[in-house]
Amino acid sequence: MKYVSTRKKAVPLSASEAILQGLAPDGGLYVPETFTHIGLASINEVSSVAELAFEILNPWFEQDVMQPMLGEICMEAFNFPLGLHWHDQQQAVLELFHGPTAAFKDFGARFLASIMERLLERQGRQLTILVATSGDTGSAVASAFHNRKNVRVKVLYPRGRVSKRQELQLTCWDNNIESYAVNGTFDDCQKMVKAAFMDNNICTEHHLSSANSINLGRLLPQMVYAWYAALEMTVRTGQEPVMYIPSGNVGNSCGSYWAAASGAPIDEIRLAVNANRTIVDYLEKGIYRKRPSVDTLANAMDVGDPSNIERLFDLFPNFDDFKQAVGAMSVSDEEIQATIQRIWQEQQYVICPHTATGERLRQAWPTDKPSVVYATAHPAKFDTIVEPIIGHAIEVPPQLEQLFGTPATVRSVGTDYHEIF
Ligand SMILES: *Cc1c(COP(=O)(O)O)cnc(C)c1O
Repeated sequence: MKYVSTRKKAVPLSASEAILQGLAPDGGLYVPETFTHIGLASINEVSSVAELAFEILNPWFEQDVMQPMLGEICMEAFNFPLGLHWHDQQQAVLELFHGPTAAFKDFGARFLASIMERLLERQGRQLTILVATSGDTGSAVASAFHNRKNVRVKVLYPRGRVSKRQELQLTCWDNNIESYAVNGTFDDCQKMVKAAFMDNNICTEHHLSSANSINLGRLLPQMVYAWYAALEMTVRTGQEPVMYIPSGNVGNSCGSYWAAASGAPIDEIRLAVNANRTIVDYLEKGIYRKRPSVDTLANAMDVGDPSNIERLFDLFPNFDDFKQAVGAMSVSDEEIQATIQRIWQEQQYVICPHTATGERLRQAWPTDKPSVVYATAHPAKFDTIVEPIIGHAIEVPPQLEQLFGTPATVRSVGTDYHEIF
């Protein structure tokens, strides 16, 4: 299986090569040359998420140097539970937050770390990964790469601009993970990372790499839970489900579109966005215009120019096809709050602000079909938003409790990237 750039001016690569490369040299993103249809028969036999992952991902690693290790990589990466919570006979929530940092990004980050460690070992190479973060990405990447051989991670976050609990998750690491509290904004953190990548001396000396959501190694594993939900829903209800996906950089939804393109029984995919309405505007006007991002309660979705949008354009090159396949709606902060409250009152079930955009969409744009909302993070990560709405404390899951209780190590720096090397 080969991967080509969305801009079609780069040499096709194997999965492993594309994962090490990150962004294609022509500035595009790697996408599969063709979609292999995965038969349902082979999948019916599986008994764990790791086995399911192996069956689904194996064709994508056909002829790849890592194919012989794929089973082991899946066992290591998918070592936490995945499940559906049912509101009723037709409506479910896909809980993607049972990993070590309690957000769906654990799926992508853990798979990437497992495969990268083996690739680097094989090539006798070392890497330094830089991550600028305002939330979940930094903690998922730090956790996934913690104590991995041949990789160092430097996490940069804006000092005083992340919540207490977010900060604890970014600073509770040691050994090969270094946390930097930058005296500036999230944009300053991103600028430092970009400047470091432009500095040839630093790039060669430290072998810089990134682990952001455009990496193929984060996207492929995100197909696994789409398959899982589609299969479970179809078995239980006898119909293919509609998926409601809280979206920012559209990596999560792209994984689900790729799953559908390779045969997962999905009726339709609908994207919930917050006040950052770039995709909604595109669907209404037919012209894509990126915007500066605006702050919302669902801050992991505060994206004005979704980094994976090129992959969706590549999948649906014609505007009418895009419109047919990609439905999207914008959800306001007031609707997020009202939805957290409604789901708590109706179901005695607590959701995070991101998941609330998906639940709001299911209410505002309902379907007769069975449906799934992706729950992208555990609500305990957003206690300061959710607890005042539901009026009581949220129980903290053990894996987060452990992270919150680990002593912090963090260095305070200015906005000059030299300070982090
Ligand atoms: C990253 C994130 C999202 C958005 O996912 P994308 O792949 O960027 O669309 C939604 N919710 C949570 C909790 C996240 O961390």
